[in-house]
Amino acid sequence: MPSVLVLVHGIVQGVGFRPFVYRTALKHGLSGYVRNRRDSLVEILLKGEQESIESFLEDLKGEAPPAADIHRVEVYPAEEAAEEAIASSFTILGSSPEASASGSVIPADISICPECERELRDPRDRRFRYFFITCTNCGPRFTIIESTPYDRENTTMRLFPPCEECLREYRDPRDRRFHAQTVACPRCGPSVRLLDPDGRALRCDEPIEEAGKLISEGCIVAVKGNGGYHLAASTLVDEPLKRLRSVKERLQKPFALMARSLEAVKGFAEVSELEERLLTSPAHPIVLLRKSQGYYLSDLVAPGLDTVGVMLPYTGLHILLFDRVGDPAFVMTSANKADEPIIKDDDVAVKVLRGVVDYLLIHDRPIAHRCDDSVVKVVEGRVSYIRRSRGYAPKPIMIPSSGGDPTLALGAELNVTSCILFDGKAFLSQHIGDVETLETLGFLEEATRHLMRLVRCKPEGIACDLHPRFNTTRLAEKLSEEFNIPLYRIQHHHAHAAKLMAEHGLDEVVCIVCDGFGYGLDGGAWGGEILYSNGPEFERLAHLEEHPMIGGDLATLHPLRMTASILYDAPGFHDWLQERAGNLPHGAAEAELILREAERRRGIATSSCGRILDAAAALLDVAYSRTYEGEPAMKLEAAAYGGKPIQGLNPIIEGNRILTKPLLEHLYESLGRERVRDLAYSAHIYLARGLALQAIREAERLQVRHIGFTGGVAYNRWITRELSRILEKNGYNLLLQKEAPCGDGGISLGQAYAASSLQ
Ligand code: ZN
Ligand code: ZN
Ligand code: FE
Repeated sequence: MPSVLVLVHGIVQGVGFRPFVYRTALKHGLSGYVRNRRDSLVEILLKGEQESIESFLEDLKGEAPPAADIHRVEVYPAEEAAEEAIASSFTILGSSPEASASGSVIPADISICPECERELRDPRDRRFRYFFITCTNCGPRFTIIESTPYDRENTTMRLFPPCEECLREYRDPRDRRFHAQTVACPRCGPSVRLLDPDGRALRCDEPIEEAGKLISEGCIVAVKGNGGYHLAASTLVDEPLKRLRSVKERLQKPFALMARSLEAVKGFAEVSELEERLLTSPAHPIVLLRKSQGYYLSDLVAPGLDTVGVMLPYTGLHILLFDRVGDPAFVMTSANKADEPIIKDDDVAVKVLRGVVDYLLIHDRPIAHRCDDSVVKVVEGRVSYIRRSRGYAPKPIMIPSSGGDPTLALGAELNVTSCILFDGKAFLSQHIGDVETLETLGFLEEATRHLMRLVRCKPEGIACDLHPRFNTTRLAEKLSEEFNIPLYRIQHHHAHAAKLMAEHGLDEVVCIVCDGFGYGLDGGAWGGEILYSNGPEFERLAHLEEHPMIGGDLATLHPLRMTASILYDAPGFHDWLQERAGNLPHGAAEAELILREAERRRGIATSSCGRILDAAAALLDVAYSRTYEGEPAMKLEAAAYGGKPIQGLNPIIEGNRILTKPLLEHLYESLGRERVRDLAYSAHIYLARGLALQAIREAERLQVRHIGFTGGVAYNRWITRELSRILEKNGYNLLLQKEAPCGDGGISLGQAYAASSLQ
């Protein structure tokens, strides 16, 4: 009888893969074994009929557990020695003892699977209505792992020794909980309690269902999840949302929602097939969905935006929250102090949230590592990762073209992640946040050291942003000294482009990089760039016209300053600005000052695409201030829905500068004559056309085949759509992000990639 050795590469450990292989082998009457290998592979030896082996291999790829991700399967004829080792049945062997060598792959958290959900609802099941129901196919992973290998004693589940019955399931290869490190039941597992704001436990039989009722009635409840605390509130009444906005100091920033079911989501948002797949995927990310015509939730959820961020319940606890209420969704926003990371510890939650929440719903399983919810958006029919965290981190992204030494990178300043690149894999940390405070800096350092321990990698080089005063730069300087390894300072937009090259395996690229701010080689504020890069090096080929930022960073917070910086000499503009002076913190006097400064051309010059979108947003009365990152640009994108390009607006390019003053002037002259949505749409089209024409020109001159688009502006659907259209017409295929965010959340990967090719 033939026998073969099968090696499976990918995310195949800690995701229920061996029991799946076991069941599949039995189904096809094969003997042999399966085991986890130290190099993160799964090794399978099979003996049986040729036909059975072939159907086994088909099932292996077609029916693998949802959280598994098979990258490659190799099949070899088995050697004689191995053949002899085959027993007459199929067995699961223990992991090889060296199972935690360098490069081990750590599974991400997995949302509750359909089988566990069924058991949660089954009165005959011993886990009926048990909030911490999990199996080998689902449950927390990364957020409970303290060290490797991934065994219960190395996780925060070690505090809950399994009872007899749970142990029996754990040891039975035919059971879905065979080797499930999180196996638990109401007798032996974590328990949940409802607390008053002072941290005193309330007596109640069904704390979760009770919490759901309280939220529905208008209370704000802190809910402990897998990766940290959420603040939950009703989506149907304004009062708790007003309170939440004032305590979180989030005046306008949209709140994410957790909906009770997919049907409920479809009642207030449009859901495409791809978006539905994302919502129900093992990661259960927050998906930015278009509000539907009949959107009926409070306007305070996502003010001024056409989209709303929605996720589905991803644990038993979340499902039970909705059991006694009819609410379609709850607000579920991460609980944290302003500019600090998400709260994960119970004592901190009670202390910090006093005065904010009415109740706390907590459980006694410690969170080893905090992990925020992930955020994705579908742009041009493709998944765009905005925040790659829970459900994805720290799964590696395959980078076949990277061959350099192991390299660590620490990101820029906003939406920071860190990255370890080695052995063809990029391990990105969970979302850290804006590293502007000591707390987030501490979190970055802790998360990075933990990631290094988990993947067992000692870097040979470290990369950071070129900005001399970023906190991440200072941390990189410190670690470079501590590890005695060289430090590479990678220009911001070069890193953005390098990330795209890494994901697509490119040798060279002409890359359009548009975002809000990146420190330029000349010390300027770059952000609307066309670069050439071959990986380690780059050249700035062209950029958007520069305009002074009146008042420096104030121009970012108050887009009217950017509008004035560009239009100060347009006829009647002084009066136009004075009419809107009420939207500036210091009113008319401030408007006067801004105009004087604008005439003198004072302020750091910026070529930022984000600032142009901001200026247009203020000009069209869409947004006057930025209370969260990207707000004016996002509102401009929303305002452009249903818009058409206006006549006679064609991009003007002078040398290597795409002019933007003519755009703003044209919009200004058309105010009142054209519909706002057409003007908003045209602003996007103008920028896209200018960037596309110039990029094509450069690509032709340099004979480069690939043109890419990245940076935070690449989340914008209008610009992305128009760029793709023009490039396609000219025989190019626009390269966009794959798995790592095109915003600053993916920049650490680009830094590491550029630095490793420099070594
Ligand atoms: Zn499950
Ligand atoms: Zn038990
Ligand atoms: Fe950026």
